[in-house]
Amino acid sequence: MPIRILSDVVAAQIAAGEVVERPASVIKELIENALDAGATAISIEVERGGKRSIRVSDDGSGIPVDEAELAFARHSTSKLATVDDLERIHTLGFRGEALASIASVSRATLTTRHRDAAAGARVVVEGGTVTDVHAAGGPVGTVVTVEDLFYNTPARLKFLKAESTERKHISQLVMRYAMAYADVRFRLVQEGREQFSSTGSGVLEDVLLEAYGLETVRGLLDVRADAALRSDAPQVTVSGFTSMPQLTRANRSQIIFFVNGRLVVDQSMTYAVVQCYRDLLPTGRQPVTVLLIQVPPEDVDVNVHPTKAEVRFRVPDAVFAAIQRAVRTALAAYQSPPGWQGDGGAPASDSAAWQTNSSQPEGPTNEQGAAIRELRPLIPGERQLRMELAIDDPGRFAPRGDHERGLEDSAEVPAGPEAPARPRTLPILRVVGQIGAMYIIAEGPAGLYLIDQFAAHMRVLYENVSETLSRGESVTQQPVQGDLLDVPARLARVLESNLDMLERLGFSLDLFGPTAFRIRAVPVFLAQEELNSVLSRVAEVLGNVGDEDEKMSILIEHMARLGAYKAGQVLNYDEMTGLIKHLERCANPRFAPGGNPILLHISGDELARQFGK
Ligand code: ADP
Ligand code: MG
Repeated sequence: MPIRILSDVVAAQIAAGEVVERPASVIKELIENALDAGATAISIEVERGGKRSIRVSDDGSGIPVDEAELAFARHSTSKLATVDDLERIHTLGFRGEALASIASVSRATLTTRHRDAAAGARVVVEGGTVTDVHAAGGPVGTVVTVEDLFYNTPARLKFLKAESTERKHISQLVMRYAMAYADVRFRLVQEGREQFSSTGSGVLEDVLLEAYGLETVRGLLDVRADAALRSDAPQVTVSGFTSMPQLTRANRSQIIFFVNGRLVVDQSMTYAVVQCYRDLLPTGRQPVTVLLIQVPPEDVDVNVHPTKAEVRFRVPDAVFAAIQRAVRTALAAYQSPPGWQGDGGAPASDSAAWQTNSSQPEGPTNEQGAAIRELRPLIPGERQLRMELAIDDPGRFAPRGDHERGLEDSAEVPAGPEAPARPRTLPILRVVGQIGAMYIIAEGPAGLYLIDQFAAHMRVLYENVSETLSRGESVTQQPVQGDLLDVPARLARVLESNLDMLERLGFSLDLFGPTAFRIRAVPVFLAQEELNSVLSRVAEVLGNVGDEDEKMSILIEHMARLGAYKAGQVLNYDEMTGLIKHLERCANPRFAPGGNPILLHISGDELARQFGK
């Protein structure tokens, strides 16, 4: 075939392949156009999952009659004039491609009236060809109807999923935009039924309630972090919500980002959030997070991909660090509730700071940006509920010196490395006893605490091992009498190639034949365990594919689980006080790695109420 310049129609269809993948992508472009036009209400009506028709109406500025037809031409846009404008884009659209692309693969009708005009226009385009333009009445704003999507590109039509799948994509998309634009009223009608609507109140919680329902919203924490104060870093502001450790999903699809109002899909931003939960969630569970991120327009390049779902940051580390700081601050504020003051009367923001410091590197550190705000009640009455469940009244907390010393003396390290002096994250608790060889009862300044001994010990071991490793040290070992370990050849190779990492974790092994090892030493807190099964489990984890950090964290969790006091294990008083003393200084004393709660608190008031006092 000789070289030819593609006709406009074919060229538009190729561009459409990039922009219009499915009905939801049409809706995304039309919503963005409506938002760019300053709409305060956007209504989306869909039939047959968007295959039959999509209709998006807005009350935005509208288009002047003499420009209406031009809106469908390729590279026609009112949002950009020069290359320099690309440097500071304040609108969602700028490529001038969406309407042309959509109209090239459907039958599209645009009805619009500009806010300064007495009359409007209607333009009909079929398969990329304008078939009708005439005057039309109607309110100020724009309505775009897209019928028979992909009718002229059968190959693409075949790729569409079941209508129910397309409907799901559409409702997810509309809800997300409603979250990012809480001051705009959204309404989604699918197959004649209203599926979602938002009030346009400007309050994100209101939208979340509509989108997720009460149960999920109860499990969300407010994320507020002011921009970093450092003058050399871009001013990144992060706000939104992130889940408490109890609220999880099976995949990462509920970790959502908007950057300057633009829905962005970015693996490294997702990873930044997931890392904050690394030792809080069970393996394979993911948080629910909605973050609205503001970055100065000159610090972000949005012209990376036709769908504009990818962006490039001038200083990516600053953005990831801001995300981590914001999410960690929210989690820390939840886990060491406001009002509780540690030994030195450390304010809540300090406890948030050390929590952040104890974790992985996160780009530029030590910025003083993460101003903590009070946890805001998401639901009326919710605050009180949380206070009762988790907050100790500092006024009633009066540690007695002798009592404290007594604890220090009797407190023996439950196992594992010496705990460094860390700020307290729980009030001093006095052990009362053990019930069911499973739970420790303790008394605190604000009532009764029931502590799951397994979960608590697992948390202590997990943090001790993690800290030891992060200081570059190895886990304390206990020599063993040269036990032999024989494993399948595959696992033997895995162990052999990870001997250094195992050494740091406290396992000293020598190769002793093709598939056998001699065990020289093991972590002191695992010395009582059945070593063959421990090491086989360790080899299994090491053999899995995945990121080194993630594997390490899974391994530490396994080891902590194996070494922790079991349910059914009777503990003496010293073991219990030792455990509680260490728990009081854990960064995350309220949840075990894996997300199970460690303690239940019944306040003095609640006890009095129950006893009718
Ligand atoms: P872009 O949004 O990248 O500019 P589009 O093809 O999506 O390109 O739209 C082309 C132009 O049509 C826009 O620049 C805008 O001027 C106009 N337009 C499209 N939709 C609307 C709308 N809902 N309200 C007002 N103007 C619109
Ligand atoms: Mg557009």
